[in-house]
Amino acid sequence: MAKARCPRCGQGPLFTGLLNLREKCSSCGLDYSAIDTGDGPAVFVVLILGAIVTGGALWLEVNYEPPIWLHLVIWLPLILVGSIYMLRRIKTALIHQQYRKLGW
Ligand SMILES: [Zn+2]
Repeated sequence: MAKARCPRCGQGPLFTGLLNLREKCSSCGLDYSAIDTGDGPAVFVVLILGAIVTGGALWLEVNYEPPIWLHLVIWLPLILVGSIYMLRRIKTALIHQQYRKLGW
């Protein structure tokens, strides 16, 4: 899977902070303003991570009936860390696909 780097040169980082895109590549100067992934990354995260967390929570509840605090300790950090991680990875993949297929 592609690193969170410029789709043209592979050197300059795509993001400032966790999920904000830079204005342009700091290495080759590629303008990032044409990037439009829309709601694509969020849709994939909701569908994939939602299925994992919902299935996991159901399985845990049916088999072990743990107290609610244990569900919170397990699933809340997984949702928080997992969604940010997946958003970065999927957004990067969609940006690289957009650049490869359409260019700008
Ligand atoms: Zn670049």
